Amino acid sequence: MYNPASPHAEAFVHHDEILDTLQYAEENKKNASLIDGILRKARERGGLNHREAAVLLACALPAQNEEILALAKQIKEGFYGRRIVLFAPLYLSNYCVNSCVYCPYHLQNRQIPRKKLTQEEIAREVTALQDMGHKRLALEAGEDPVHNPIEYILESVDTIYHVRHTNGAVRRVNVNIAATSIENYQKLRDAEIGTYILFQETYHRESYEALHPTGPKHDYCWHTEAMDRAMRGGIGDVGLGVLFGLERYKYEFAGLLMHAEHLEAVFGVGPHTISVPRIKRADDIDPAAFSNGIDDETFAKLIACIRLSVPYTGMIISTREGIQMRARALELGVSQISGASRTSVGGYEEEEHDTEQFEVSDNRTLDEVVRWLMELGYIPSFCTACYREGRTGDRFMQLLKSGQIQNCCQPNALMTLQEFLQDYASQPARAIGEQLIARELHVIPNEKMRGVTQRHLARILAGERDFRV
Ligand code: SAM
Repeated sequence: MYNPASPHAEAFVHHDEILDTLQYAEENKKNASLIDGILRKARERGGLNHREAAVLLACALPAQNEEILALAKQIKEGFYGRRIVLFAPLYLSNYCVNSCVYCPYHLQNRQIPRKKLTQEEIAREVTALQDMGHKRLALEAGEDPVHNPIEYILESVDTIYHVRHTNGAVRRVNVNIAATSIENYQKLRDAEIGTYILFQETYHRESYEALHPTGPKHDYCWHTEAMDRAMRGGIGDVGLGVLFGLERYKYEFAGLLMHAEHLEAVFGVGPHTISVPRIKRADDIDPAAFSNGIDDETFAKLIACIRLSVPYTGMIISTREGIQMRARALELGVSQISGASRTSVGGYEEEEHDTEQFEVSDNRTLDEVVRWLMELGYIPSFCTACYREGRTGDRFMQLLKSGQIQNCCQPNALMTLQEFLQDYASQPARAIGEQLIARELHVIPNEKMRGVTQRHLARILAGERDFRV
């Protein structure tokens, strides 16, 4: 039986409920009065349930489809303003005992070199990332209890937080590692990680088991219930995701929203972020071998429908996508993007990228990405203040839902952008950025906040750093 509050994966991501939802959506895809009613609800910015959202995703009425995209843009801007948070992935190790058929790190791949960074190598990678201007990282590692035990991940997090090169500092380390135990999540919490990210890959159990034929990841329930264990272990911010292309996207969309509803029902707080990766070419992986790939138009609509359904959840897009798709995704709902990413182990220091997890489609430097964002009218942000001030989990969500978060985000975005411009930017990027900061400063509505921001900006210009942003 479908039960969003159940601790069991099969009850909160309930196969029959998904099938019923998809049938209901299909039957109503041209039902204008129903769709208009759902759009009215979406306009109130309180989100949608998986049934309502599925109808919008299936909608086959051109005017209403236009409205979905327009509304997504409005909601995106309403919740997040023009700020875009930047981060980079850091691959620690590609040793892996799983056999995910879409990932080149699978156990059977004997041609890919296996590599695991030492703590000294991690410090060098982090120095290279700091020298670009990054403040926020996402750690990535294969699952291997011998090569990548939790102690290795914890030591690596500690190393990263302690690297200080000139004005550089990594202020938030998000972690994307395999599903683990409550005890290990508690250890990750004690190591002060930011978000724990784990992609579901697919919510369809049968496909999941076929796509993960052997290894600990084969266990669908262990994987799907991981976020419950993470939250029980004290991690306030968790990040969901689906690897689009593995299964039918409408099925995944309903499963993803049911997962979010479950976290909200049990913990009073939904996912902190949702990622939307699509399968990419990699060492021995050909994306054409997966028959559920989605085209750019469908992908854009999917992003817009996620935005309407969970307006308060951050959305992440990586360099798996090229410049045009990233620009479109930013308009429709994405609030965080990676920049200058390397998806190989040791990739920021080395020329060789023979351990790459997937090909990236956006090869620009961080400076170029920052400049591009500003030219599009966005405010690139390196802010990590919420996490550093303990505004995580339900505290963060309450501030976001009430709109009060805007009082922190805009000043912090401007301050961290100023740091970037001062310490790392090229002359052209700095020129655009300084104009942007001057313009944006004057639109901070609260006079006192404007004054504080102005003083902090002056201190940054004078060389001071780290105002817990
Ligand atoms: N080993 C961990 C796990 O099992 O979740 C860490 C994840 S892995 C380093 C990060 C993500 O990359 C995976 O969850 C998967 O969705 C994605 N990925 C794997 N192969 C990919 C490919 N060929 N194209 C795009 N994304 C891929």
